[in-house]
Amino acid sequence: MNHAPLAAAFVADAPRAKWHDETLWFVRAKRDKAAQSVPEWEELRECAAQIKAHTVSRLADYLEQFEREATRRGAVVHWARNAAEHNEIVLKLLSDRGVKRLVKSKSMLTEECHLNPFLERHGIEVVDTDLGERIVQLAGESPSHIVLPAIHKKKEDVGQIFHEHLGTTAGATDPNYLTEAARQHLREKFVQAEAGLTGVNFAIAETGGFVVCTNEGNADLGVSLPTLHIASMGIEKLVPRAQDLGVFLRLLARSATGQPITTYSSHFHGPRPGGELHIVLVDNGRSDILASDEFRRSLNCIRCGACMNTCPVYRRSGGHSYQTSVPGPIGSILAPSRNPKMFYSLPQACSLCGSCSDVCPVKIDLHHQLLTWRRELAHQGLLSRSKRLGMQAMSFVFRRPALYRLAGRVARWLTPLLPRFMIYNGLNAWGKQRELPDFPAKSFGEQYAERRRHESQRNS
Ligand code: SF4
Repeated sequence: MNHAPLAAAFVADAPRAKWHDETLWFVRAKRDKAAQSVPEWEELRECAAQIKAHTVSRLADYLEQFEREATRRGAVVHWARNAAEHNEIVLKLLSDRGVKRLVKSKSMLTEECHLNPFLERHGIEVVDTDLGERIVQLAGESPSHIVLPAIHKKKEDVGQIFHEHLGTTAGATDPNYLTEAARQHLREKFVQAEAGLTGVNFAIAETGGFVVCTNEGNADLGVSLPTLHIASMGIEKLVPRAQDLGVFLRLLARSATGQPITTYSSHFHGPRPGGELHIVLVDNGRSDILASDEFRRSLNCIRCGACMNTCPVYRRSGGHSYQTSVPGPIGSILAPSRNPKMFYSLPQACSLCGSCSDVCPVKIDLHHQLLTWRRELAHQGLLSRSKRLGMQAMSFVFRRPALYRLAGRVARWLTPLLPRFMIYNGLNAWGKQRELPDFPAKSFGEQYAERRRHESQRNS
């Protein structure tokens, strides 16, 4: 899997790529406004980072406390080491009760575990009830963003998908009309469902409860009608105390969409009367990240998507180019932890501008971690041949100052004389979309030395 060709395919449709870039930048600008409206924003970020660092440092204890408290409230807690175990647990819960129709509220963990295709292979209908998720599900695609799963679709695309699958009028693009059609369609699915599955935004060790944040109320409806509620939760979703929630709920919605609060923050503490609540705690590589000094802080992520909205690479290459359930800067850190060989190209895609670290509400040093991944992947011998050879050549020159100065002098003299085809050709991927700037007459070192000479003459 290589990010570059997939990004190139996305960028090939220039108007769509521009629209995608501008749409996400609009969300990023809303986030800035919302953040600036909270005077203690930086204190909140610091507080959230410390709570998360503390929780992660005692994760095993807090998980046991959570299990104890959740069980005391009547929930059944299951442990899954990996995606396969998670899927088997969910399937068993459904099959034992003869469930054939499941409604899901948005859960990136189930995307990570590829739960939908797994259940469908076993004859269970799975309906994603978040509007954006339902759009991509009907289109046969995966979400391209963790908060805005159908952000790559224009309203014309949605009109076409709904026309094909829900029988709406051909060519309809009115958002009110399309949303109403989706509402009617989903209502039917909610009523027919025999079980509901939600993700977990925050789980509270102290109480054994958890919170699910949605803007459409679909999680509430999905688990209120059927008697079986399954909650799929990554083990890093914990906070120690109920009073910690306020910090994260204030940060999450503002960072994600610029809203002061998510429309529904639904709290679940035990099953509803006459119902069943099963919580599946999933590791799936998180323990390995926990064991790593370099990348442990990536477990602090609260999946707000702000790093994606601000990332110049994500905005211009689209979420599908990352080929992972969590794309963008945080996805480029998490994915190589699971499979370095498969996702080696993601940290290379980063421009290292640092904007992701600036907006992250839990202060993850994303761009530093991406840089660390580059070093790590180079050590693992996972760089492409051309990059490896290029690096070796540069390293040879950089370690010899005289050679470095000579190479600079030759480049400044020779490059402007070369015919265009010798500079802009298939070997120069950088030059495909860029022009070299004019070469200066003197090197930086020469200009610096000259300036110092002039300054000392002026001062003497
Ligand atoms: S890394 Fe930070 S900015 Fe990115 S999704 Fe996670 S919490 Fe949000």
